[in-house]
Amino acid sequence: MKAVRRLFHFAASTILGTLRSKKIITRIHQRQQLQALLKQAIGSQHHAKDTALLRTLLILDIDRFRQVNFSLGYKSGDLLLEEVGNRLRAIHGCGLVIQSGDDEFVLLIHASTQDQLSQAIQSIQHVFATSFIVMGQECFITVSIGMSAVDITLTTIEQALHQADQALLAAKRTGKNKLVTYHSSHAQPFSNQIQMETELRKAILENQLILYYQPRLELSTGNIICLEALVRWNHPEIGLIAPNEFIPLAEESGLILQLGEWVLREACLQKARWLEADILNYQIAVNISPCQFQDESFSDKAIQIIEQTGIDPAFLEFEITESSIMQNMDTTVAVLDKLCNKGISISIDDFGIGYSSLNYLKHFPIHCLKIDRSFVKNIHSNKDDWAITNAIIHLGHALEVQVVAEGVEEWSQLEILKETTCTTIQGYLLSPPVSAIEIEQTFQANNNIPVMIS
Ligand SMILES: [Mg+2]
Repeated sequence: MKAVRRLFHFAASTILGTLRSKKIITRIHQRQQLQALLKQAIGSQHHAKDTALLRTLLILDIDRFRQVNFSLGYKSGDLLLEEVGNRLRAIHGCGLVIQSGDDEFVLLIHASTQDQLSQAIQSIQHVFATSFIVMGQECFITVSIGMSAVDITLTTIEQALHQADQALLAAKRTGKNKLVTYHSSHAQPFSNQIQMETELRKAILENQLILYYQPRLELSTGNIICLEALVRWNHPEIGLIAPNEFIPLAEESGLILQLGEWVLREACLQKARWLEADILNYQIAVNISPCQFQDESFSDKAIQIIEQTGIDPAFLEFEITESSIMQNMDTTVAVLDKLCNKGISISIDDFGIGYSSLNYLKHFPIHCLKIDRSFVKNIHSNKDDWAITNAIIHLGHALEVQVVAEGVEEWSQLEILKETTCTTIQGYLLSPPVSAIEIEQTFQANNNIPVMIS
């Protein structure tokens, strides 16, 4: 749940009369109000001798809503939210629909049977299967949904909200556009997001973050040509925390800017150490998050960090997603030109899933396309995935840019990739991401030749 929320009531229920206008309220106040509303809604159903046996709480979060605001404008964003609320309110079985955050809704469903419950959930999902028209512009949106059963004898409202929150986080962590029902495995090491955010802030300052490195291999020579820096959180009590556990929160809270700077600085410092020791003489790829890339001071800060650490920018590659660079074409061209003029290479990460137009490839100084792992995964068994991968590889050849197949885990995938003239791979078949020390030991022991090839 977000730190500051606007509580905007869409439900027709009379108990919500006091909240009919938009309000800016604090997290605690809002949370208490939200709980009070839910308690009242459940209580009123109970007193009315409602036969509902199944009460389910859903927290629904619109994926990438910031991009909607950015692309269509805030006015359109507000109209879109209003339309989402209207559509949800019209669903049979939705006892309560509350906009509980900038782009978040809390729904309470009452159902007498499992079938009714399933139908209501399907209707909610169907709301987002059709497009929205806002100010004459058609747009599709997706949502992540966390769901938790509300049993008033066993579970408090606070627990149900907490569980739905954790299920929502699980939905976001696993790629968004999903509905996840709460399961005990979703319980987080931190009791709430505020605690996790506080701990993450500390982690950046106290150097609890570490970088792992995953090699990229050139198939024609058998040489490693690049190491992708990937951040991990080594919490003093919890241990190693995977990025999907904390990056979504870092993005949501804005901490990603600080975290991204830390990653770039540490990658540059590590590169400087390897240069000093005359080992692992490869380019380092650093992932740049959409929030970072959209930050207007990004390129200046990045160049400043590189200059401060004293490494040649030619040793760096920035991995940027298609959706990041498509936010604002003019700004993107200026930023990428600035970075390229300094000697930094640019790769398009997760290529093939983010944007349908290829026109941008003509305008941007791009050095590498990283084929999204979802195409590589079934390249040996799915002819569509093969066709798309093959097309991207040949597109890359024609544009004279490097093409990397990501997520290569099996020999059969590698064989097919070789047949399709793929030049470069990355994935667990070669090596998982490993610490700087491990990668030094592995590669030095094999004369800088990866185990797979030796
Ligand atoms: Mg990447």
